[in-house]
Amino acid sequence: MSATCPQCAAPDQSVAVSQALADTTQPLSEPMRALLSPPPEPRPAEEGGLSGAAISLSALAAILGVLGVLSLVRDREDLAGYDPAYRVGYLAGPFLLPLILLAIATIVEVVKRGRRQAAPAPSSPEETTRRQLHARVWQAGWLCRRCQVAFFPEASIRPGFPASPAIPVEQFPLWVMTAAERAFGADARAVAD
Ligand SMILES: [Zn+2]
Repeated sequence: MSATCPQCAAPDQSVAVSQALADTTQPLSEPMRALLSPPPEPRPAEEGGLSGAAISLSALAAILGVLGVLSLVRDREDLAGYDPAYRVGYLAGPFLLPLILLAIATIVEVVKRGRRQAAPAPSSPEETTRRQLHARVWQAGWLCRRCQVAFFPEASIRPGFPASPAIPVEQFPLWVMTAAERAFGADARAVAD
């Protein structure tokens, strides 16, 4: 399949955007590649809960804590003759490692949650539909290597949808979004309702 570039009116340098990105014989420049890249995939909803590392560390802390209690119960009577500082150290000693492990588990969990919040929020159904429509429009995009412009041939986005003008590559991502809204806006809203 080929498509006629609206700027130079020739089809010989036209290539589907997806093919242009995959073509290793004529690689695109990095900025161009970034502008023409497909819209991001919808992120599946992520389950919450503690991370595996935090659970393991907490479990280990709990076991050591129990062992600490047991050792204190066993050795209690030996402490009578010692000074208070030693006694405090002796009593607290078995719980020091469990406390450190719990602190590490907390840090691991806080760091993980921070990362999760930094990432985009899990997609709502409307957001997923919107992104799928963006992907559908993106799939219909063409690039003229001669003119370095993107375009959408007539009816490529959906039957009856008019051909686009030549689109400067910098405007391609925005064009994908607006064309999705124009071509499928009613569909997307129907799904959302
Ligand atoms: Zn052209």
